[in-house]
Amino acid sequence: MGKEVVNKQVLFKDYIEGVPKESDMELKSSTIALEVKEGTQDVLLKNLYLSCDPYMRGRMRNFHNSYIPPFAPGSVLQGFVVAKVILSDHPDFKEGDLVSGMSGWEEYSIIPKGKNLTKITRTDLPLSYFVGILGMPGITAYAGFFEVCSPKKGEHVFVSAASGAVGQLVGQFAKLMGCYVVGSAGSKEKVDLLKNKQGFDNAFNYKEEHDLNATLQRHFPEGIDIYFDNVGGSMLDAALVNMKVHGRIAVCGVISQNSFQNAQAIHNINMVIPKRIRLEGFLQSDYAHLYPQFLENVINYIKERKITYIEDVAEGLENAPAAFVGLFHGKNLGKQVVHISDE
Ligand code: NAP
Repeated sequence: MGKEVVNKQVLFKDYIEGVPKESDMELKSSTIALEVKEGTQDVLLKNLYLSCDPYMRGRMRNFHNSYIPPFAPGSVLQGFVVAKVILSDHPDFKEGDLVSGMSGWEEYSIIPKGKNLTKITRTDLPLSYFVGILGMPGITAYAGFFEVCSPKKGEHVFVSAASGAVGQLVGQFAKLMGCYVVGSAGSKEKVDLLKNKQGFDNAFNYKEEHDLNATLQRHFPEGIDIYFDNVGGSMLDAALVNMKVHGRIAVCGVISQNSFQNAQAIHNINMVIPKRIRLEGFLQSDYAHLYPQFLENVINYIKERKITYIEDVAEGLENAPAAFVGLFHGKNLGKQVVHISDE
């Protein structure tokens, strides 16, 4: 039997309604044997970075009819990670490999049959990027903008939650295409970063605006060609009124909506008819085939300093619940990750 070590874990307590709280999660210490059984193809990981993602809230609800099942109450939270292989019975992975994939919110995880792990071969980039700009949020922004929005040079683009993991990339991709880009975000600091560091043409703090319809009219007097929607609710309603004829709305997320039951009505949905708006929801997982092309292009953009990526790194597994909950209060400045161990 392999050496037993302490394994700190974050457990999901029970199903929630509304916005998650730190008390919905619990820190626990258990032990784990550092071994993989022969013939299992299992892989033992030491987790290095955890990703905090808004979709995880959906897995905390007692809702079984989604594209991904809910967490089981009492189980270890699951999410995207960057990790190091400690032991492997899988032919594709060996001790010392760096990988990304779905793992537990814990120090060590056994991944049965190495399921959905991807080897990280580029070690000249920050490892945390593989759960951010080069991971799930990155492909979301890439596929959502280039595939779903069908952008053209010179078009006018609006992005909400623009300073977040996905939004900051959408805005920068749009600038690379020669579009005019405005972002909304929830603080002055975020707005300043968008304008001064990430090349947005303009940005505004939606929390200081009392009439979002008038705000969008001010920023887009000729109308919006593309709205990349990360928030839903009243921002979507205001955008619908301000879209141009044949505008496109990519519905990426609805973080402003706290529950299915109390979802805000979208009053201006009828605008899709006279304006012939294409409003399309999408899931990044449908675009996995684009991953190699995405990776190559985005790594080039990073190397050529054509895009910057802002991360918010929390330190230590014990701070992971607060970092996750912070997403729903706009506390993150850029992509929220948690550093739990060095290589
Ligand atoms: P993020 O933007 O890094 O973090 C979430 C941000 O949402 C917060 O920082 C906050 O920014 C904003 N927010 C929180 N509560 C809000 C509210 N009530 N109203 C308006 N804004 C609010 O997160 P992300 O990972 O980039 O995800 C952005 C969106 O994309 C989420 O809706 C997520 O579910 C969605 N998503 C979809 C896919 C897909 O495949 N469709 C994949 C990944 C992500 P402010 O300070 O600006 O308010």
